Amino acid sequence: MLQTPIEYLKGVGPLRGDMLRKELNIHTFKDLLEFYPFRHVDKTKIDKISSLTPNTEYVQVAGRLNQYETVGEKRGKRLVAYLQDDSGEIELTWFQGINWIQKTLEIGQRYLVFGKASFFMGNPQIIHPEMEIYTPEKAGGRKYLEPIYSSTEKLKARSLTGRAMGKLTFALLQQISEKDIPENLPASLVQKFNFISRYEAFNNIHFPVSEESYNIAVRRLKFEEFFFAQLRLALIRSSRHRFSKGLLFDKVGDLFNTFYNTYLPFELTGAQKRVLKEIRKDTGSNRQMNRLLQGDVGSGKTIVALLSMLLAADNGFQSCMMAPTEILAQQHFNGICSLLKDMPVRVRLLTGSTKTKERNEIIKACEEGSLNILIGTHAVIEDKVVFKNLGFAVVDEQHKFGVAQRAQLWKKNTIPPHILVMTATPIPRTLALTAYGDLDYSIMDELPPGRQPIATVHRYENKRPQVMDFVKEEIAKGRQAYIIYPLIEESSKMDYENLMKGYEEVKSFFPEPKYWISMVHGKQPADQKETNMQRFVKGDTQIMVSTTVIEVGVNVPNASVMVIESSERFGLSQLHQLRGRVGRGSDKSFCILLTGSKISNEGRERLKILCATNDGFKIAEKDLEIRGPGDIEGTRQSGELNFKLASIVQDKVILETARNITSSILESDPDLSTEENLPIKNFLQMQKGKTVWSKIS
Ligand code: ADP
Ligand code: MG
Repeated sequence: MLQTPIEYLKGVGPLRGDMLRKELNIHTFKDLLEFYPFRHVDKTKIDKISSLTPNTEYVQVAGRLNQYETVGEKRGKRLVAYLQDDSGEIELTWFQGINWIQKTLEIGQRYLVFGKASFFMGNPQIIHPEMEIYTPEKAGGRKYLEPIYSSTEKLKARSLTGRAMGKLTFALLQQISEKDIPENLPASLVQKFNFISRYEAFNNIHFPVSEESYNIAVRRLKFEEFFFAQLRLALIRSSRHRFSKGLLFDKVGDLFNTFYNTYLPFELTGAQKRVLKEIRKDTGSNRQMNRLLQGDVGSGKTIVALLSMLLAADNGFQSCMMAPTEILAQQHFNGICSLLKDMPVRVRLLTGSTKTKERNEIIKACEEGSLNILIGTHAVIEDKVVFKNLGFAVVDEQHKFGVAQRAQLWKKNTIPPHILVMTATPIPRTLALTAYGDLDYSIMDELPPGRQPIATVHRYENKRPQVMDFVKEEIAKGRQAYIIYPLIEESSKMDYENLMKGYEEVKSFFPEPKYWISMVHGKQPADQKETNMQRFVKGDTQIMVSTTVIEVGVNVPNASVMVIESSERFGLSQLHQLRGRVGRGSDKSFCILLTGSKISNEGRERLKILCATNDGFKIAEKDLEIRGPGDIEGTRQSGELNFKLASIVQDKVILETARNITSSILESDPDLSTEENLPIKNFLQMQKGKTVWSKIS
């Protein structure tokens, strides 16, 4: 019944059906049922005209029609009527359908009038009100709150107003019964949460008798939305666990142990140890690991990746590690080589700028299996690169890679390698649960000991000289500084000029030979970029002027100041990420957010949050609250986040509950084959077309 095409509903037909499909994506009875009103009005409540204020929204007034007249000419022509109750008078105005409306109006008649109130020159008015003849019984006789639906101009032109949508929905609800909307949750769950039936829930979300009955309906339907979304993701996860065969790392060998006991330069944090255990468990279990590692900037993800790659080598497998930029790949390569310098592990670097001869050598070593670890940019996943037995792949700073690129990794071995995806920026847990619920998921929420929070301040541009003086003081202490310019698009000419201007200005503050400056941006040839970068890393230059190419991962522990120009042009997560370039050593570090004097309230709010906390997870939560899930970096732009009713920001608690319940259901009944879980199974089967069995990390 619910799958019936919408044009077969009484009152719709082919023309309106077409409009509903195009304008509101309503194809079936079910779609209409799930087209929820955005608010309700209580039509039993009658407002006094004198009580209306500019803040009043929808109003319902009852009174006598005193007079009406048409005023204005041609396009400005309108019909104005005056309605009076015992407290005052209100204007009713029509711009369209004037002739027809005029014929229906009767002076001296009492009307019940409903609409959106506005004030014009201090007088209340309603434009295009809904009117009906008023009888006291009628006003009191309504049994429910009237739903208001959104509509579009095109639909209104076909007289499918918000109100008409309500009539269609009402007609639909008359046609269906309990049996058309069967229960989809196990009885025990319905009982536990005291849920009303789905049939009732749909009735009450559209036509509730009270606010309370509306809320009860919403509670059930929101839960359902999260429950089935979580269930689908969990099913994908568990079917991967059960059916995908993974490479087995069954031992911890010499390489891992020697490195861990002899060369590891510090004690691992508790979080690092926990994540390593999770990885060890996955890779030792005969199933393929597809794990997302979320860690705040500087939480030490790289060493976790390295230890995992040693584990792979101990078990006879090769590994690769991909970084989004050459700078980062180079840096990982340098860091890892120096950590492994006394160990019998062969590591090579492959990027777009690797020379042909060396490239051929590397490719050969990969193919023969003589290479243990290949580090690089996306060059490592090109088809030409064939591994003898790739067992472990690390994708660093995940969101810079597309899904398709990551898919390449799966094909690098007959049994796909284990995959560890490391995010650049934490995302809120609620978002992770919905966007990445089909992945295994680890959190590193602990920074290595001894880190001091980065003191962060906001300064207006006119304070730039003082800021630069401060940078000089830090440099005098032997520290280094970053000055970052926003290049939203690396290729944009204007932004590039902006950077060059900035560079000249920085030079005037910091003249040679007392100061040396590196500059790095996306337009430079790779070798020049690299040279500039290395000079800063070695401490030959004290200042790094850069665009956001520096954003992810770069690690220069001696740098203690981060100045961000036009910081209002960056998103919260990006600012946090940039700030994370300092505070990597044990010295006190600083971040100065420069802005013009005119910034929006939202911009100011963002900077305030950043000044107040160093916790990336908290910042991510705030970012989600301010911008909504659609815009958050590092998430898939997917339908998984489009809930009709539920919101991952406001309904966190429901989401967590749904998540816990789905996992415990699947744990005890992975095939949903018990009698108890039959309603779930039936429901999923009905909706089968919707499930996306994505395999990609
Ligand atoms: P991110 O998670 O941002 O990629 P990195 O892996 O680059 O962080 O680590 C940041 C810095 O912290 C590096 O200099 C690294 O050597 C250091 N580090 C990592 N783990 C620890 C630890 N357990 N104790 C002390 N320093 C650590
Ligand atoms: Mg990193």
